[in-house]
Formats: sequence, structure tokens, C-alpha cells
Amino acid sequence: MAGGFAKDGAVQEQIDATVEDAINRARDQLPRGESLTHCAECGNEIPVARREAVPGVRLCVDCQSERDTEQRAVAGYNRRGSKDSQLR
Ligand SMILES: [Zn+2]
Repeated sequence: MAGGFAKDGAVQEQIDATVEDAINRARDQLPRGESLTHCAECGNEIPVARREAVPGVRLCVDCQSERDTEQRAVAGYNRRGSKDSQLR
């Protein structure tokens, strides 16, 4: 932290937030014991079939796909080179 550039600080803050975000998302994806009966995000009931298919599931299909979309966006920022091969 040499300081002197307020702009650098702001950018760093953004990077930190993004990294923290990614970590939180990664954590959310880790199966943790029992599947939830209700979505951790919206509180909707998660169908039994989904709970059995995805051990430790915490999100309903809607929230999961929303999250997947967000993650693809984040992955696009982080690995521009392989973005296309990752998506297709
Ligand atoms: Zn949900």
C-alpha cells in the first residue's frame, strides 16, 4: 500500500469485493451435509427429486440458474482467453 493514488484504492476495493464474492459463491456451491428443504435464497420449497439428485443442495432451480448465470459472467471477467471454450 504505497498510497498516493486514490483511484488505485478504489480499484483494489472492487477487486477485493469481487474475490470475496467469488469465494462466497464457491462456498455456497459446496455441498454441506443435508439438502435443504427450502431454498436458502428465496425460501421456496426445493422438490424432493432435486434434493436427492443434488446432495447438499441449498438453492431452488430458479436461484441456482440465476447464480450460474452470474458465475459465468464472473468467469468471463477472470478468464477472457478461454471464455468461449468454457461457454460452449
Ligand atoms: Zn430459490
